[in-house]
Amino acid sequence: MLSFDDDIPLHPVFRPAMPASAATQLRRAPVPEPQPDLQPESQQEWRRIRAEDKRVINGATDVNQLVPFKYKWAWEKYLASCANHWMPQEINMQRDIELWKSPHGLTADERRIVTRNLGFFVTADSLAANNIVLGTYRQITAPECRQYLLRQAFEEAIHTHAYQYIVESLGLDEAEIFNAYHEIESIRAKDEFLIPFIDTLTDPSFRTGTPENDQRLLKSLIVFACLMEGLFFYVGFVQILALGRQNKMTGAAEQYQYILRDESMHCNFGIDLINQIKLENPQIWTSEFRAELAALFRRAVELEYQYAEDTMPRGVLGLNANMFKEYLRFIANRRAQQIGLDVLYPGAENPFPWMSEMLDLKKERNFFETRVIEYQTGGALSWE
Ligand code: FE
Repeated sequence: MLSFDDDIPLHPVFRPAMPASAATQLRRAPVPEPQPDLQPESQQEWRRIRAEDKRVINGATDVNQLVPFKYKWAWEKYLASCANHWMPQEINMQRDIELWKSPHGLTADERRIVTRNLGFFVTADSLAANNIVLGTYRQITAPECRQYLLRQAFEEAIHTHAYQYIVESLGLDEAEIFNAYHEIESIRAKDEFLIPFIDTLTDPSFRTGTPENDQRLLKSLIVFACLMEGLFFYVGFVQILALGRQNKMTGAAEQYQYILRDESMHCNFGIDLINQIKLENPQIWTSEFRAELAALFRRAVELEYQYAEDTMPRGVLGLNANMFKEYLRFIANRRAQQIGLDVLYPGAENPFPWMSEMLDLKKERNFFETRVIEYQTGGALSWE
């Protein structure tokens, strides 16, 4: 079991005690009682919220007051995500439709990559959206972070829309694609890995405020940002972008590039959120907890590798499953380092340097590393 030092407070007391749950509910947090010894102006100041009192979890400040800002990195990511707004139907799918329907278009292995990809993603972004709306959002007490989560939830809806739009454009068997997460073992295994972490947060009785529950929240956030959005998406992204590089399924590839840009931001926001929670609650980052996380990372790498093997039984598009073993280890190391875990696979290198450009691994920036400076406002992404 986890052990905690009883002397360390859960979170610093910075105002007259208010129930922590008040801030996780929809209603307004109670205003502090008037202080008899203060002058009227000081009284007002006392009752107004101060940026320094905000906390990402277990905060007692009013969740409806976005300003004064404390977590500017979250607000900046919200603005940047809005500047990246796009819609699936803006992308022309005509060439994809012609190629898909042509008897000389794609090989059977290339078609398998497309249908497996859609089979995973068409439900994965819905899981992500439900996890945010029904789970994470309630537990986060910083309005800046909630503002970003609202935008992120809409982006997950856009992604589900994009996959649906591709399925519809190509005239695929909808029942087969939408049921893949029940019927295809390599997809079901990834989703089953995620479900317990979604169940934790979406349980209506779940509340942070104890060391165990604060750890459970943090673990779920890490699984989603680092392992789902930061690792489980990557084999699929590489495959579709590899098709696009060969001038095949360019509409789908363009959709995936926009999705990837959004997902890089989700992953970066999640990592900033995780690091901020660690900063504010250092007592929950125990060695047992880190060991548990490292095991989850290793399991996720195995699952994603199994998915790579299932989707690429033979070499295709200059890719093969074995190349992904190294690639996944490389990405897992990066995710681990981003949240302050030890490197899991020393010496792992990136076998797809071209993906670094396209997948933004080089451009990824976290608040705790350096600030993002490159954003686009709408417009098309260009293919090299
Ligand atoms: Fe996402």
